[in-house]
Amino acid sequence: MLKINKNYNNLAESYLFSTVGKKITEYSAKNPDAKIIRMGIGDVTKPLCGAVIDSMHKAVDQMADSATFKGYGPEQGYGFVRGAVKNYYGSFGVSLADNEIFISDGAKSDVANILDIFSTDNTVLVPDPVYPVYVDTNVMAGRKIVYADANEENGFLPLPDENTNADIIYICSPNNPTGAVYNKEQLKKWVDFANANKSLILFDAAYEAFVSDENLPRSIFEIEGAKTCAIEICSLSKTAGFTGTRCGYTVVPNDLVFEDTSLNKLWLRRQTTKFNGVAYIIQSGAAAVFSEEGQKQVREAIEYYKRNAAVMTAAFDEMGIWYTGGKNSPYIWFKCPNNMYSWDFFDLLLEKANVAGTPGAGFGKNGENFFRLTAFGNYENTVEAMNRIKNMIL
Ligand SMILES: *Cc1c(COP(=O)(O)O)cnc(C)c1O
Repeated sequence: MLKINKNYNNLAESYLFSTVGKKITEYSAKNPDAKIIRMGIGDVTKPLCGAVIDSMHKAVDQMADSATFKGYGPEQGYGFVRGAVKNYYGSFGVSLADNEIFISDGAKSDVANILDIFSTDNTVLVPDPVYPVYVDTNVMAGRKIVYADANEENGFLPLPDENTNADIIYICSPNNPTGAVYNKEQLKKWVDFANANKSLILFDAAYEAFVSDENLPRSIFEIEGAKTCAIEICSLSKTAGFTGTRCGYTVVPNDLVFEDTSLNKLWLRRQTTKFNGVAYIIQSGAAAVFSEEGQKQVREAIEYYKRNAAVMTAAFDEMGIWYTGGKNSPYIWFKCPNNMYSWDFFDLLLEKANVAGTPGAGFGKNGENFFRLTAFGNYENTVEAMNRIKNMIL
């Protein structure tokens, strides 16, 4: 008789985005004239840039000609994309070997799939609040999860202390949902902790392209010692609007050796067995992101979102509300006025300002009394939304 994976019974129901959606629909039905501005979803709105589109069009034509047609590609990704990623890392001083780079269909899949190569006996450390995928994928596997408290006192950037005890450590910087970014000294503390305890850091760099402060690290490999304790997972989703196109990359250094085993070799074995690579057309688009023209064009979209973020942080400064994020991230995470519960503030914001955001409580217990707004909307709506919020608060 078939037995199911009973760990799935331990997953907490995720009500966050469905409840947000339901509340907006109900409010709109009752107030059909309300012009609701949605600043809740963590998805991009700008289309793919011209360099990416041209490259994908060319690849489509190549697929139509037997002389240039591509069948199965290398599981680890085409050399032209891995080379482009390698050069990109070089541009901020990180040197990688070609075989350390794995092209993927996005960060979410790799964040989940990488767990295949680790025993379920490991204890996992996850910051709270957090991107829910880290927790749910480990619940599915039945791993023990402990939490690192992120809060106002530590600026939502928890550090290891004498009580920290974990084999796998998730770090997301710039962070979703808080927009907080670790500096090099702080990341060094995690790297030193991991090396000293023979733990592994899974570093989610999905928002690295939003870092403009040159003193802040965009990759964990900017930190000395990281190559013996960290895997970095990145994506073109937020960098280049690939949320619906699907491409990312994972870096597994050759120096990662645990129990006399190379993690790079294990991951290669896992990928060549369970994954057949990303579509040639998509990888052609991905390579174009790293071309000179592509970089210029994706920077324009990122600057557009960051201009929105600047409008938002200026408004919160004016209102005297405590927040993290915005400067090197598309998220602003702020403290609800009068210490309101985040769902109560969600209702108030929707009803009084017709602005929809995401209640912090949906990302973990430490998210209570906090709220997330995203800078992925259009500029005019962002200005209008912030004016409405200021009118409501001030
Ligand atoms: C959006 C996001 C990603 C990207 O996921 P993809 O599967 O590449 O679209 C990864 N990590 C975090 C924290 C994110 O918010």
